This record gives sequence, C-alpha cells and structure tokens, in this order.
Amino acid sequence: MTNIRNIVILTGAGVSAESGIDTFRTAGGLWERYKPEDVATPEAFARDPDLVLAFYDMRRAAIREKQPNLAHEALARLDAEWPGELLIVTQNVDDLHERAGARRVLHMHGQHHTAWCTACDSRPAWSGPLIHRPPCPECGEAALRPDVVWFGEMPYRMEEIAAALHEADLFVSIGTSGAVYPAAGFVRNARELGAATLELNLEPSQGSRWFDEARHGPASEIVPAWVDEMLALA
Ligand code: NAD
Repeated sequence: MTNIRNIVILTGAGVSAESGIDTFRTAGGLWERYKPEDVATPEAFARDPDLVLAFYDMRRAAIREKQPNLAHEALARLDAEWPGELLIVTQNVDDLHERAGARRVLHMHGQHHTAWCTACDSRPAWSGPLIHRPPCPECGEAALRPDVVWFGEMPYRMEEIAAALHEADLFVSIGTSGAVYPAAGFVRNARELGAATLELNLEPSQGSRWFDEARHGPASEIVPAWVDEMLALA
C-alpha cells in the first residue's frame, strides 16, 4: 500500500469485544437477552421509557468499568503519528477510542458519555443514570434521553463522513459485521470513489467480498500489526 495519504477507518463492536463489551453476536451476550426492537428504537422508548432508560443506564455503567485494548491503543498511535488525513468513524457508543488517546474520532451512532435533551437540543456531558428523569443542566426540563442513534433514526455527521470518503486513499473496516446500514455501504462508496479497501475482522463479514483485501483474526493482534505496517510507510 503505497501512495496512501488519507485514511478513513470504520470501527464496530468487534474492536471493543476484547475489552469485554458485548457485540450483537456474542453468544450469551446482551443482545441475546434483549431484542433491539425492545430497547433500541424510538417506538420502544415511546412504549416503555423505563425499560429503555434502564437498559442504557446499565450499558453506560458497564462501559465505564472497561478499558481500551491493544486495538484501540494501536489506532490511537496511528492517529497521533500518521502525517496525512485520518478519520476514525465509529459505530460504537463507548469511549474507548478516546480513552486510548485517539483524537480524530466521529461517533456516527452517538455516544454514552453525553445525553441528549429533546427540549433544548443540547448534548450535555453525562456519566450517571437517566432513569430518574434528571433535569437538563442547560434548560432544566426533564427531557434527557440517551444520545445514541436508534434503529430508524438518522446516523450523525453523515456529510462529514461522505466528505472524508471522497478524499480517502484507503478505507479500512475493523470489527464490524457489515449488517447495519448506512455504515455497511461505506466500502462500496469508498471503492467507487477510488480508495483501496481493507477489512480487519475476526471472520469474513457480510460485506467481505467488497474489500480488496481481508485479514481475519482478533483485533488485538491484526490491528497493531497493520498499524506497524502503515507507520513503516509514513
Ligand atoms: P456486530 O455485533 O454486528 O458485529 C461485530 C463484528 O465484530 C462481527 O463481524 C464479529 O465477527 C467481529 N468481532 C467479534 N470479536 C472480534 C474481535 N475480537 N476482533 C475483531 N473482530 C471481532 O457489530 P457492529 O457491526 O458494530 O454492529 C453495528 C451496531 O452494533 C452498531 O450500531 C453499534 O452501535 C452497536 N453496538 C455497539 C457496541 C459498542 O459500543 N461497543 C456494542 C454492541 C453493539
């Protein structure tokens, strides 16, 4: 991979799996116990807000206990040392990229360490529970919800992502199943725009065939190895 200057990296739940955060597909994990339609849709929130708030309070508290792993650390090193443009677009709502030290991170599905006030549209930093309907620190209304993008809602910052894909020489997808759109379509957008494409995942994803190259194994092994290769080129 020569002549690479601008890199877009898409990450999914697989990059945080070895930190102990369940992916959708973890056997016996969270998503076997809760159906996405019961807890991760606007309709679910309207129907049973206590269930949805309790679910996200549980996840927010669990994520706080987790630590970045070698894959997050390697990506933070690449972010710090890569001389060209670089953007980490994550589908994860955890903050493990940032806690590893990465700065150029965009959370397209929202994040757990902010809440969203549906009364005044502010996004205050948040670390505690929401189940007791605390007042918004900005406007005082009891209208805070998790700042996460639910199924059926528009992902955040799509224009910035499209612009970065336009400029990308290399698109890398890490730890994502290729099942959730629009993120699953980025590889085809990137290809059409002329970028080289690489998949790093535990196993072939649903979109593996769209990548120029795919490497399979645990993120804690294959991501640091790839970052070493990239920094040797820099
Ligand atoms: P997913 O669960 O659908 O797929 C995870 C992928 O990671 C799978 O292809 C799996 O083979 C791979 N994987 C598992 N362990 C791995 C490892 N150790 N190393 C490398 N790859 C590994 O997750 P997704 O594609 O991110 O699904 C999309 C949705 O899941 C997103 O909307 C995201 O918001 C949500 N989600 C987020 C988190 C989180 O914040 N950490 C956790 C679960 C789900």
